[in-house]
Amino acid sequence: MPRVLNGAEIAAEIKQEVAAEVKALATHGIRPGLAVVLVGSVAASVIYVRGKVQSCADLGLYSELITPPATVTTAEMLALVAQLNAREDLDGILIQLPLPAQVDTKALLDAIDPAKDVDGFHPINAGRVQAGQPALAPCTPAGVIEILQRSAIPISGQHAVVVGRSDIVGKPAAMLLLHQNATVTICHSKTRNLAEITRQADILVAAIGRPGFIGAEMIKPGATIIDVGINRIADRAQFERFFAGNAKREAAFNKRGSVVIGDVHPAAFEVSSAYTPVPGGVGLLTIAMLMANTVRAARMRRGMAL
Ligand code: NDP
Repeated sequence: MPRVLNGAEIAAEIKQEVAAEVKALATHGIRPGLAVVLVGSVAASVIYVRGKVQSCADLGLYSELITPPATVTTAEMLALVAQLNAREDLDGILIQLPLPAQVDTKALLDAIDPAKDVDGFHPINAGRVQAGQPALAPCTPAGVIEILQRSAIPISGQHAVVVGRSDIVGKPAAMLLLHQNATVTICHSKTRNLAEITRQADILVAAIGRPGFIGAEMIKPGATIIDVGINRIADRAQFERFFAGNAKREAAFNKRGSVVIGDVHPAAFEVSSAYTPVPGGVGLLTIAMLMANTVRAARMRRGMAL
């Protein structure tokens, strides 16, 4: 039976450590602060932002929710970012994505002070991650490393295959694995003979955005699978293809009319020695790492040891 790498347990462990660090900083009169900017009211964004603000409260961080209207312009958003950059009491700035089409997302993310870029999306932080320098690394890839390390899964010398090369997941995940001395292969939509390459993976990281794309025939028996994908499926036929005979998923589908699945087919997990489930895996680490990054930013901004 493969081992299930439980994201909830690992996230809880990290949050506990962050809360302890926040307490220690309080003795120096420091309270890490996070600005969360939510533009408009996209349902998924509202839920994510609520989780982030709640986590700040749970762990003792200061947070401030700023909610510009959906009609906001790039210029207005740039002015807001400039204000937040200048605020001494804020260590982190998080702009919930996606933004409305009229806002230049890249210009905005590039305008965030790299020292407050707790999402780790600024090119300066990307460069520091690449150079192996102290940085604010993107939360999801940082979560991938935490899962592996805290589950005592060896990385050094292992062949890690990352499928996906986005700036926010695939590329930084590959870079962080490289810094842990994995031998890393990055695959993408133009990769030839993908299955041949994924079958060589001791650690397979799937960050593709296609439901159940990685099949059992693409996995080396005994590999570790980190499934970053979060895909919602609402089509009955598609559901049957992945979850026929799974009573728990069937009940969830009947109740909500949809279920969430990763980029890895459930049958592929059976071939592995350990895997992150979806939901309940990598996704849960993202907020924990955001909290950790905010505390890290608070320390870095004050020149404190990390
Ligand atoms: P992107 O769409 O930005 O990137 C997808 C990557 O997958 C691209 O590099 C693309 O290649 C590659 N790809 C697409 N199709 C194929 C294919 N047929 N074969 C091989 N590679 C392919 O997605 P993200 O990186 O933003 O997200 C990936 C997944 O992770 C999504 O399901 C997303 O929901 C999830 N996610 C989860 C998070 C979490 O908290 N757990 C956080 C962020 C994302 P190419 O570059 O050639 O187009």
